[in-house]
Amino acid sequence: MKDSPNILVIAIDSLRADHLGCYGYQRPTSPAMDGLARQGARAQQFVCAGLPTHPSFTTLYTGQHPITHGIVAHGPRNVLGRDAPSLPQILMDEGYTTCALDNLATGRIWFRRGFEFYIDPSMRHTVYIDVACEELNARAIPWLKSHGDERFFMMVHYWDPHWPFKPPERYQHLFYDGNPTDPDNHSLDAWWKHPLGAVARDTWMRTRDGLITDAAYISALYDREIRHVDDGVGELLAALDDCGLAENTLVLLFGDHGESLVEHGIFFDHHGLYETTLRVPFMARWPNRIPAGSTLSPMMQHHDVAPTLLEAVGALVPPEMDGRSVLPLLTGQARDGGRKQAISCECTWQAKWSLRTDEHKLILARAPDLYGNPERELYDLKADPDEHRNLVTEAGGLAAELEAALEGWIAERLAAQGRADDPLRAHGTSLNLA
Ligand SMILES: [Zn+2]
Repeated sequence: MKDSPNILVIAIDSLRADHLGCYGYQRPTSPAMDGLARQGARAQQFVCAGLPTHPSFTTLYTGQHPITHGIVAHGPRNVLGRDAPSLPQILMDEGYTTCALDNLATGRIWFRRGFEFYIDPSMRHTVYIDVACEELNARAIPWLKSHGDERFFMMVHYWDPHWPFKPPERYQHLFYDGNPTDPDNHSLDAWWKHPLGAVARDTWMRTRDGLITDAAYISALYDREIRHVDDGVGELLAALDDCGLAENTLVLLFGDHGESLVEHGIFFDHHGLYETTLRVPFMARWPNRIPAGSTLSPMMQHHDVAPTLLEAVGALVPPEMDGRSVLPLLTGQARDGGRKQAISCECTWQAKWSLRTDEHKLILARAPDLYGNPERELYDLKADPDEHRNLVTEAGGLAAELEAALEGWIAERLAAQGRADDPLRAHGTSLNLA
């Protein structure tokens, strides 16, 4: 334990990979995160295991896939079992001082399990997701200064790229010079006709001139929020430097899930198991241990984070955790590893499973699609990375093979827990817009 590093986890809500410079985006949204990636390792294929936020963070802390920990959705029917493994609790037992800058425990008590310090500046807001990175940093940085001589695990949950996209005034000049309410722009017509669009009609999706009509403007707002949180990340990392802590701190940064903008007819929030919501950034910096500037291609998922951190601090990984450590990949000790298949689920707005390989993705619905998308989809991720061409009929053999693998995995995991019901069928969706 003597040489174990401090751990700083930066989890950014609704941050998709492909809107960051280090993942090839053209806009300068992410200079600080790009810098962090250059100083460490970056995963090309980090795949969310369960969206939205509650399933994803529960997966992070338990090291378990949602099918195991059972938190597959937001909603009152979900309660995490007392015997579920807890990364913060284990680190605390290993002698770490644990601190979360977060607010998920306001709704679900298990999100503060194992945290000696649980700091929630969103208490000052009516809407908890309105808390800005500056407010979190204003609490996180003094905490680092006063606890930096203890071995610490800090988790900071930034919300800025989560809707509503309301970046501060100083970002308003970025990424857009058109007319957000141009009456001749029809890129959001389908959205405004959708039942969910009606919900948003009187909220943030309007300017003084009326309803927003240009989808590109919403995308620019999202990018401004990424730049906003990136400045927050830069400030936090600079504070780590100033405190002399950067050298012995393992920093992980990732998104909990991505965001749908207009792809696949999905706009607003994060629905659908497409790459827009599943593929999130993941980067890790640990000076002298993780080679700078490395890029990792194997697939990884959120339940791999806890085992990775436990290996990094020399703690045992509980057998109840489904994830596996990717530390050897991060440090360059291993080239092979990662996942041959990544299985994901969503179950708040829609109830779907997906199975992703390096080449293909199968998506399977357990309830009607909220946007009228097909209930079985197959995509060739190499030839068609934007997932426009559903091959489920054309490549029926492959679709059947992947579907059998997915159903087999679900059945096997349920049988191992002595359960019969698919939790996505049991839970259904929270919305009934019919
Ligand atoms: Zn989230």
